[in-house]
Amino acid sequence: MEVIPGALERAGLFGVIGYGLVINFAIYIGSLGVYSMLSVFPGNQRLGNRQPVILQDILLSIVTVFCNTLVFVLGVYLWKYGFIRLDKEYGFLQVAVELVSLTLIMDLLMYVFHRAVHFLSHMKQIHERHHEHQSTNLLSLFVLHPIESIGFGGMMLGVLIFYPFSAMGISLYLLLNSLWGTIGHLNHSILPPSWIKLAKKGFLCTSEFHYLHHRDPNYNFGFYTSVWDLLFKTIHPAYRNAATKTTI
Ligand SMILES: [Zn+2]
Ligand SMILES: [Zn+2]
Repeated sequence: MEVIPGALERAGLFGVIGYGLVINFAIYIGSLGVYSMLSVFPGNQRLGNRQPVILQDILLSIVTVFCNTLVFVLGVYLWKYGFIRLDKEYGFLQVAVELVSLTLIMDLLMYVFHRAVHFLSHMKQIHERHHEHQSTNLLSLFVLHPIESIGFGGMMLGVLIFYPFSAMGISLYLLLNSLWGTIGHLNHSILPPSWIKLAKKGFLCTSEFHYLHHRDPNYNFGFYTSVWDLLFKTIHPAYRNAATKTTI
């Protein structure tokens, strides 16, 4: 994984932008591919109506990829100028701890940001575009107002300034983030009921969890875990009470 930071260290502005575009378009295409595969998985159960794919959404999703690239370029330059430091000596255990820590820290920050964009009147507009999808499709994860995309990236950069994570830990977190977001917007129940029960017991968000947020935006603001929704009593009653997917 040292190859990429080494190459980025030598790259000029256009090189960094090029890397950013390649990485972010790969994440975008990967997400669409995983979504398409999971949504035709045998035994799936559709959660809500089919959300039509429209041209404006395709264009906005590409704008999101450019916003994410902008955040990437900013992050690389914060690193080049020493504001973000990367730990070059790391082992398996350290990467695992970093992955869990980054996920939990971002989980809290994203819960706070998500509730703010829902309830603060001057911030509501930022998130309205995402909620035009009352159900979800393969683009929903990327149908975001640019401020929202840059806001998420900005929070992430803020965390990286505070602690020198490894490039491997950060990369794995970003992969997990896009996989989680893809599954959250799947609009299909893919796990067997016993696994859903297990995920709920482990406070992990599922496709059902975020589907309920799109159906009823007053609940389920969490992204990776339901911990903050449980703590602040914003968990959807149907999700809290349902033992299996069949009762949601
Ligand atoms: Zn969503
Ligand atoms: Zn929302």
